[in-house]
Amino acid sequence: MKRVEDCNLSGAGHIELVERFAAHNYHPLPVVVAKADGVWVEDADGRRYMDMLAAYSAVNFGHRNPELLEAAKAQLERVTLTSRAFHNDQLGPFCQELAELCRMEAVLPMNTGAEAVETALKTARRWGYMKKGVAPDKAKIICCRNNFHGRTTTIISFSTDPVCREGFGPFTPGFEIIEYGDVGALRRAIDAHTVAFLFEPIQGEAGIIIPPDGYLRAVRELCSERNVLMIADEIQSGLGRTGHTFACEHEGVEPDLYILGKALGGGIVPISAVVSTRQILGVFTPGSHGSTFGGNPLACAIARKVIEILKRGTYQENARRLGGYLAEQLRAIKTRKVKEIRARGLWVGIEFHKEAGAARQYCEQLMALGLLCKDTHAQTMRLAPPLCITRDELDWALERLRRVLV
Ligand code: PLP
Repeated sequence: MKRVEDCNLSGAGHIELVERFAAHNYHPLPVVVAKADGVWVEDADGRRYMDMLAAYSAVNFGHRNPELLEAAKAQLERVTLTSRAFHNDQLGPFCQELAELCRMEAVLPMNTGAEAVETALKTARRWGYMKKGVAPDKAKIICCRNNFHGRTTTIISFSTDPVCREGFGPFTPGFEIIEYGDVGALRRAIDAHTVAFLFEPIQGEAGIIIPPDGYLRAVRELCSERNVLMIADEIQSGLGRTGHTFACEHEGVEPDLYILGKALGGGIVPISAVVSTRQILGVFTPGSHGSTFGGNPLACAIARKVIEILKRGTYQENARRLGGYLAEQLRAIKTRKVKEIRARGLWVGIEFHKEAGAARQYCEQLMALGLLCKDTHAQTMRLAPPLCITRDELDWALERLRRVLV
């Protein structure tokens, strides 16, 4: 096969390389990003676009955020990787600072979101056996229909999306699915073997599905009453996106475990974490869990800067303020194509009527106008710009959205 030289490739050339040499496990928009800054990206052919996805919230603080780049560069000059065979001088401060941000006591760092979810599942099972007295190998974890928690074999075992599951069985047992937003269903599902309820405070991949008011509070009460761990997967909803540091804050609720990822790495490196109490994370003993890259000094140094930025609250405030404006402007558009607009902070799901066609076609039209958005589950388009977006930039985006939505 003829080799494609990578120097001076056009966008089409890059896409051809991916088609030929990468597994086809994604269906991206045909844009090849070569540079980025703040909310803007530039493709391999020099065209400029606004990024309205922010890598599913991993780029909450903007592409190449100067403070985060500086923290990364400073750490690159010192030490990048030690493994957990040795200590490093970023891990301890990172764990302390993240625990404080979460008003918790202990942190278990990993790399990707799915790994942190796996970590939370293992924590819950062990906690069930060691602390709750659940019979060996009987632990049950309750999850929600239309959840998205990642793509490992165990996680897809409790996915309800056939696309994630087909051809990957046999699946891991020990999970029960209930309807999202239904506290009665949770009450009925909890039995003597139940160790945890794992859920997203807002379901992101499902299409920005916001639970009914009072749901998070009712879940909190029920989990406390029945001695079941409340595990909030805030990998996408957390760290500023919804206008608060955590989406659970909208109802003034604290879970037993937070699962964090994406934006924790400042859009530079992967880093994820499970954050909880000393008693709960105390179930781990040396060798029972870990990862070579988990808690590496480069990722910890960047995450420490992320935590410092979040403590200031300015990105949360921008997400609240401009999120309200975005939702209001979108709802004012007179259109028959849109069935529903769901929004919390700078996180919006625009659901199209079936007759208006799939959301993908609207993403493609917007791309032609310089706006990069992403569809999910056929009918919904989501908007999740970097939280550093300005009102002028949002107006620029709204002008294009109006053209496509009417
Ligand atoms: N949990 C939630 C809520 C997510 O949105 C995602 C990714 O979109 C994950 C877990 C998985 O994270 P990762 O892709 O880093 O494994």
